[in-house]
Amino acid sequence: MTAYDPDNIFAKILRGEIPSTRVYEDDDTLAFMDIMPRADGHLLVIPKTPCRNVLDATPEQLAAVMGTVQRLGHAVLKAFDADGVTIQQFNEAAGGQEVFHLHFHVLPRQEGDRLRPPGKMGDMEEIARQAEKIRSAI
Ligand code: 5GP
Repeated sequence: MTAYDPDNIFAKILRGEIPSTRVYEDDDTLAFMDIMPRADGHLLVIPKTPCRNVLDATPEQLAAVMGTVQRLGHAVLKAFDADGVTIQQFNEAAGGQEVFHLHFHVLPRQEGDRLRPPGKMGDMEEIARQAEKIRSAI
């Protein structure tokens, strides 16, 4: 598998080299809002240490990230009074991955809703408001 690229966009977010709307962090993981949200409250959870995806992650990285995914899953349920949560994760380009630092998508869902199409920039003020709701629900 291709080596981890330390200049991928999420590595830059981790180092604070590009801005992000952070909602939660602990020693091992970071959660921040997706800038092209496919649902209100769409966020991403990443490990703070490098790995491309599930295929090269250590069990420790996976355990840490899944703990935060579960915590944030509960937070978005509460923040958006949601009926469910979609967790998405892609591995390598052929698997749908675009950013090569392990990440899990957490998307609150309402009964009968549809995810918005990918690739459309969100309204940053609205995303900031949603992030605040999630922080309050953690
Ligand atoms: P994936 O690799 O799972 O297919 O998709 C990467 C995700 O990262 C997409 O949902 C995309 O909207 C999001 N994304 C790409 N660039 C940035 C960025 O600079 N900041 C944030 N917050 N999200 C990003």
